[in-house]
Amino acid sequence: MYRNTSTPADDNGCGWFHLSPPRTPRPAHSGRSQARWAVLGAGFTGLAAARQLALKFPHDEIVLIEGQQVGFGASGRNSGFAIDLPHDIGAPDYIGDLATARMNLKLNHFAQAQIRALVAEHGIDCQIRPDGKYQAAVEDKGLAVLAAYRSGLDKLDQPYEMIDARDLPEHLGTSFYRQALYTPGTMLLQPAALARGLADSLPSNVSLYEHTVITRLEQGEKITLHHANGQIVADELLLCNNAFASHFGFLPGRLLPIFTYASMTRPLTEAEQQRLGGKPTWGIIPADPFGTTLRRTPDQRLLVRNSFSFNASGQAQQKFLDRAERQHRASFERRFPMLPDVSFDYTWGGAMCLSRNHLSYFGSLAPRVHAALCCNGLGITRGTATGTLLANWLTGERNELTDFLLASPGPNRNPPEPLLSVGVNLNLNWGQRRAGLEA
Ligand SMILES: Cc1cc2nc3c(=O)[nH]c(=O)nc-3n(C[C@H](O)[C@H](O)[C@H](O)COP(=O)(O)OP(=O)(O)OC[C@H]3O[C@@H](n4cnc5c(N)ncnc54)[C@H](O)[C@@H]3O)c2cc1C
Repeated sequence: MYRNTSTPADDNGCGWFHLSPPRTPRPAHSGRSQARWAVLGAGFTGLAAARQLALKFPHDEIVLIEGQQVGFGASGRNSGFAIDLPHDIGAPDYIGDLATARMNLKLNHFAQAQIRALVAEHGIDCQIRPDGKYQAAVEDKGLAVLAAYRSGLDKLDQPYEMIDARDLPEHLGTSFYRQALYTPGTMLLQPAALARGLADSLPSNVSLYEHTVITRLEQGEKITLHHANGQIVADELLLCNNAFASHFGFLPGRLLPIFTYASMTRPLTEAEQQRLGGKPTWGIIPADPFGTTLRRTPDQRLLVRNSFSFNASGQAQQKFLDRAERQHRASFERRFPMLPDVSFDYTWGGAMCLSRNHLSYFGSLAPRVHAALCCNGLGITRGTATGTLLANWLTGERNELTDFLLASPGPNRNPPEPLLSVGVNLNLNWGQRRAGLEA
């Protein structure tokens, strides 16, 4: 028996969610149902796993269960970078072991191809664009990161362009940054619109239930998923609920729900767009992992993402949202002094699932319980790839990517509470303070 100790509860401020094309959520589950396969969590990982199972087993029913509305969880809350390149923050050149980096690159390309194909096939309106990304620096240590990553990209034989301060305003409008490393392979997109579009284009043998919070798992000859209004009995369960898996007792203390936060402005007027200058859309990630991510969206809003908190329950907390909004305003004003009166329409937070060694979980956690968890902040591509490959593996299909994922030792252990919270909070506070102007 696995009893759940915390359930998802995100805030209602996510701009991407509210600006998505309208859709009607699927009804919650009630009563008792049986299915061969149950997938828990309809973020990018669960959506990919359910779709692939349905294609592999066209005569089976696949039940996909989501505690909130699709697109309301972390998959709809992120900054929308579907990133191709590996970025190992533990390695001096951010690439590290070349064989591992090549496999991660292949995984990300596999996911990008899948996303592109599904968006085209189902006409999903999610503002997807092959814009690439700028990794930008303003502090000396940020410049050192770009230099090191550049040497890593040379080793991996990947294209990039170094852009200096003088030329950056032509790209980004702002003259805040001293240098940027542009790589062309990232796709930028509207994440909630993608998640919702994927949910509405699932094969007909997937039964999706939204607003259905699983509170207990019972293991016997089959596995029973309990919720307030009934049960779902399945032969096999795929856990795709990220850090919430640890609230059922799996991988205890190894999956860290680290929240990060974003604000989105109102659309810029024509005059403001002129004053800003630069390209009409772009995405910037920070050289320092504790720094600020920025997007200029196709509808001419600016998104600012930074600030972190460790919410052990996995649930949103208003005090952290308030603090993040103040930080977003300060970061915005530093970068866009030419846009003094541009207010934020939306501010929200969301959980990344991180591990201390930056590794994910892929495989079987117990009899009948399989999982793809812990995307370490890269769930658009990683979740899509691992969800698909988990389903393939359960059909008996293996390839080099599956073998690579299965060979990983997975997320490592951490000290128990209260040491864990103290350690993570110290780390987050220290990192954010050290980020300086990168934040
Ligand atoms: C602000 C922010 C910016 C980010 N930027 C990026 C980015 O630019 N690019 C990128 O690739 N990644 C980014 N990420 C990370 C990315 O959002 C995650 O890695 C991704 O969402 C993981 O997908 P997932 O499907 O594995 O998990 P999730 O999206 O977390 O989905 C799991 C689902 O399980 C559901 N669930 C959990 N427990 C239960 C239960 N008991 N019963 C029913 N349902 C349950 C949850 O409601 C949730 O919807 C960012 C994250 C945040 C918060």
